[in-house]
Amino acid sequence: MGNGIDFKCRGCGHILKLGEGYGFMSCDERMHRTDALNGVYGETARRIMAEEEDIQTLWKVHVYHCTCGNYRSEGNITIYRPGKRTYTSFVRCELCGRRMRRTCLPRDPKCPKCGDIMDECDIILWD
Ligand SMILES: [Zn+2]
Ligand SMILES: [Zn+2]
Repeated sequence: MGNGIDFKCRGCGHILKLGEGYGFMSCDERMHRTDALNGVYGETARRIMAEEEDIQTLWKVHVYHCTCGNYRSEGNITIYRPGKRTYTSFVRCELCGRRMRRTCLPRDPKCPKCGDIMDECDIILWD
């Protein structure tokens, strides 16, 4: 379940596709475990997955915002270990390399490329 919005920049025509929820690309848990073991969610997630057997994972797509103005929709993984702290993977901005902050779907984002106003052009719902 989830929803998303496509935004289009008035200035440069850049399209920003943002969404949040479950099942955005796939909800196959085994695939996310394999991804985690391959380091897709970072070194810490990889190590936990390799060292511990008795874990559960939750995969979800969030909207991320960076202080440089960039928005991105990305899946992250939360790893539950019995008796230990859960671990949540994080996302780095592809433009500036900073750690991005989780946010909700923006109403009026500024274009990450040119800073102009963006209009909603498509609203997507999936289940
Ligand atoms: Zn633009
Ligand atoms: Zn950034």
